[in-house]
Amino acid sequence: MEKIHELNAILSDQIAAGEVVERPASVVKELVENAIDAGSTKIDILLEEAGLKSIRIIDDGSGIEPDDVETAFKRHATSKISSREDLFKVATLGFRGEALPSIASIADVTMITSNGSDVGSEIHFRGGDLIAKENAEVRAGTDIVVTDLFFNTPARLKYLKTPQTELAKITDIVNRLSLSFPNIRFSLQHDGKELLRTSGRGDLLQVISNIYGVSNARKMVKISNSNVDFQIDGFVSLPEYTRANRNYISILINGRYVRDFQISKAIVEGYGSKLMVGRYPVAVLNIKMDPILVDVNVHPTKQEVRVSEIQSLNNLISETVFEELSGKNLIPDAVKNL
Ligand code: ADP
Ligand code: MG
Repeated sequence: MEKIHELNAILSDQIAAGEVVERPASVVKELVENAIDAGSTKIDILLEEAGLKSIRIIDDGSGIEPDDVETAFKRHATSKISSREDLFKVATLGFRGEALPSIASIADVTMITSNGSDVGSEIHFRGGDLIAKENAEVRAGTDIVVTDLFFNTPARLKYLKTPQTELAKITDIVNRLSLSFPNIRFSLQHDGKELLRTSGRGDLLQVISNIYGVSNARKMVKISNSNVDFQIDGFVSLPEYTRANRNYISILINGRYVRDFQISKAIVEGYGSKLMVGRYPVAVLNIKMDPILVDVNVHPTKQEVRVSEIQSLNNLISETVFEELSGKNLIPDAVKNL
């Protein structure tokens, strides 16, 4: 055996990239989350060949100041948390400081960014190497382009599915991010064709309608309730509008899209015997709680969380869904002006 030595930064970034960046959709998720954390009101996502040729994200957020641009691409470099306590009350989508170095280590990345100072920056990485860094024009926010994804990790490239499948995964992520942030104007374009556009007016039902169609949005019922620890708001479909799997259930915890079997199950349980076997509702559920009650640092992709008092949350969800559906107003007011 060789002597024990520390891996160089590029190699350790590539190892981290294996966890964070599984496929083009992971790149889109991380970069759009960065744009959201930067306070953007408008985010444009432009793809070529299902993201395999290029992924471009343009935002109008805070941008990065020239002195920080190179640091942003360093492993575990983040502006979002600084102390151990912060980790227990993360209010942003990112906090691990891994996305930019991971992506830059397995692709070609060019970022143009400015933050209101008199000069902007343009920085270019390829396979973890800094290729160029120069001053750029001042613009509002950040424009990042990722090409040649996985060019130096052939096994990853081989593992990818067909372009249609990869595109479907990207669309899925962008849909959920738009549902999480109805106040942000999103647009998604693939090979010049527009796949999604939201207004950014803050109307969740309108975003549901942008994604699932107006007639389906009319079959959604508003729910809202709270107990001592949790506030839940959102829409669930009438029992007549169902799908063959759970993928149309979106769960958002403090604005973060998460996958959680237990919470999905609690929604389904609220339907009691109203659903046929093998059918699942469409739902968007925003759950708000004190960040101290949720551990977001469970997995590098941040899509898994652990919630304390989960039973109390699940009961609240099931009961609320049950009451709303067994109730009175099956033609909800909210959809009348769609
Ligand atoms: P994290 O999001 O976990 O902090 P990232 O590697 O994704 O880590 O980003 C590193 C840092 O770069 C962020 O903390 C943020 O300060 C900055 N950054 C990244 N993308 C943007 C963006 N679109 N707008 C403004 N700042 C950004
Ligand atoms: Mg990030």
